[in-house]
Amino acid sequence: MQLISVLGATGSIGVSTLDVIARHPDKYSIFALTAHTQVDKLALQCQQFNPKFAVVGDAASADLLKAKLCASGCTSEVMYGVDALCQVVSDPAVDTVMAAIVGAAGLVPTLAAVKAGKKILLANKEALVMAGGLFMQALADSASLLLPIDSEHNAIFQCLPTDYSSSGNSGVEKLLLSASGGPFRGWTREQMQSVTPDQACAHPNWSMGRKISVDSATLMNKGLELIEACWLFAVPESSIEVVVHPQSIIHSLVQYSDGSVLAQLGNPDMRTPIAHALAWPHRIESGVANLNLFEIARLDFEQPDMQAFPSLAIARSAAQAGANAATIMNAANEVAVQAFLDQRIGFTQIAEIVEQTLNSQILCEPESLQAVQESDSEARLYSSAYIKSLEK
Ligand code: NAD
Ligand code: MG
Repeated sequence: MQLISVLGATGSIGVSTLDVIARHPDKYSIFALTAHTQVDKLALQCQQFNPKFAVVGDAASADLLKAKLCASGCTSEVMYGVDALCQVVSDPAVDTVMAAIVGAAGLVPTLAAVKAGKKILLANKEALVMAGGLFMQALADSASLLLPIDSEHNAIFQCLPTDYSSSGNSGVEKLLLSASGGPFRGWTREQMQSVTPDQACAHPNWSMGRKISVDSATLMNKGLELIEACWLFAVPESSIEVVVHPQSIIHSLVQYSDGSVLAQLGNPDMRTPIAHALAWPHRIESGVANLNLFEIARLDFEQPDMQAFPSLAIARSAAQAGANAATIMNAANEVAVQAFLDQRIGFTQIAEIVEQTLNSQILCEPESLQAVQESDSEARLYSSAYIKSLEK
């Protein structure tokens, strides 16, 4: 029996994770569920999975959750705050942690799980992008095992040899990162100028949280994933090519020196990578329908449009620059995406804000978690002030 803590249980990935876990009560049981402010949803999840702990963001949400659980007879102990998140992932009883908080807020609890030597199922790509060097060092120093949940990285992981090492002679030449192209594939920058948050969040193939949906629409999601792949598979950005594949059936590919290209295919449903990582190195049923190639009939591929989607080039330069460039990029992007969702800026201004913020900050290698957090805060301050100046 694997005992699991789910960070971000009420989100899109959290809900898919609980769906897979509920199919295998003989294999998995829940130690802790966490959410930020979605108390009603978390209360229902606690009633279904009866975790030892439930963690929320603040005292007011905790009081509300306690009252709801008490009324329903659920005995989960309620806690709140970042220290509580760290506690429920580090507890000696826990085997596995699903890291599915969105954004930089996931870094500290995910690092705590790494340091405690847990099996980490990593959905929270921003944590790795903002603190890649520290994160990978913490992994190397611990007994922790990291399995990628992001569908592209999970696909690459499945296509790599089991004894893969970037320095060995595995014959891996290139990683081909699939991108759906998002809801605005084929649009010009002018056409994108006046799109609304709801249009940007209406992804053609995937149903996801609003932040990653906007990232998919700007292609910054692919930029974050490019940097995520550099860290996970220890390759330079030049060894990764982005392939736009609108059907989202091939989730990514690995090209080998003998001309072979291995791909992982499946219906676009995050329960596949979640089930893969939960059961690895075995396989379990995920609830995802079998792929019907006759219904799909065709698979298309195209180059990304770098003019219409500048975020991809920004992420490539941040990957090349190294140091704290990705920390700054990620922070500015989180601020700009939130401002777009709040209808304070236009869609095409997101990339402009990220680029301006990157140009404004001094690059230096972040040697500690505190240095990463300082870079993150400074970039947030700059981009917030820049957004204010645009509003005038
Ligand atoms: P979501 O917005 O649906 O859910 C986010 C979860 O994080 C919620 O449970 C929320 O309560 C919690 N949360 C938000 N802010 C928090 C904070 N400050 N402190 C603590 N908890 C907080 O997001 P999602 O779509 O499930 O994505 C989660 C992560 O997984 C993101 O990093 C995303 O990039 C990644 N991811 C998602 C998908 C997908 O299909 N949804 C695919 C690949 C990767
Ligand atoms: Mg992805």
